Amino acid sequence: YRQRLVALEKDRMVGQLAATISHEIRNPLTSIRGFLQLLDQKELSLYDQKRYIELALSGVDQANTIINDYLNYAKPSTGLHEQLDIKEELEGTIRFITPFATNHQVVIEITHLSEEPLYILGESKKLRQCLMNLVKNSIESMPTGGLISLRTCKLPNAVQISITDTGVGMTQSQIDSLGMPFYTTKEQGTGLGLVVVMSIIKMMNGKISFSSSLNHGTECSILFQQK
Ligand code: ADP
Ligand code: MG
Repeated sequence: YRQRLVALEKDRMVGQLAATISHEIRNPLTSIRGFLQLLDQKELSLYDQKRYIELALSGVDQANTIINDYLNYAKPSTGLHEQLDIKEELEGTIRFITPFATNHQVVIEITHLSEEPLYILGESKKLRQCLMNLVKNSIESMPTGGLISLRTCKLPNAVQISITDTGVGMTQSQIDSLGMPFYTTKEQGTGLGLVVVMSIIKMMNGKISFSSSLNHGTECSILFQQK
């Protein structure tokens, strides 16, 4: 398996996105408002009270997720390109996301195939946001738990990061849809995670590709050229 490798380089309509995002956030806000109004009735059973509160809270979570996924995309770049040690960036990200992984019975292992530090130019915050979104997708692709293998590797003129999971996998047409704003197969998904990922990688002159096999898992590979 893993026969499908597609390089994903699509031009995104950045400008129109902000308007669409505001619209997406307005939806949960409208429903939160509705449930708060319902709560403001006399003679409401305890059961209904609890139900409306829960629904309002899930609206808040939904709005929050949209903002989180979108945040770094909307923020203008500092333009500051520092030397980043890929291994450190990866390990920092993992420390941050491990509690979430453990909660989902997911084990994360990391292998560095070369001893020397691997430097690229970029913004730490953005690179970490990018890695976070990818690892989060892997975790979410394994509803009953599994394994994520992270690997760094030095190539002749590039460094490679790969993220492999043992999740549900994707079909070729799903792979082709990755990075399209609002493309999601999740009930609580935003379909913005990979939009952010791809725009960050493009900004860093990197390349991202996915290879996947249904019911076996997915491998994401990121390549950064080194001068
Ligand atoms: P979201 O996570 O909110 O759905 P993303 O842009 O992060 O939005 O991902 C879009 C879709 O791509 C997901 O809903 C899922 O169908 C698919 N996807 C992304 N990564 C993986 C993965 N590692 N395994 C399986 N499917 C994936
Ligand atoms: Mg996601």
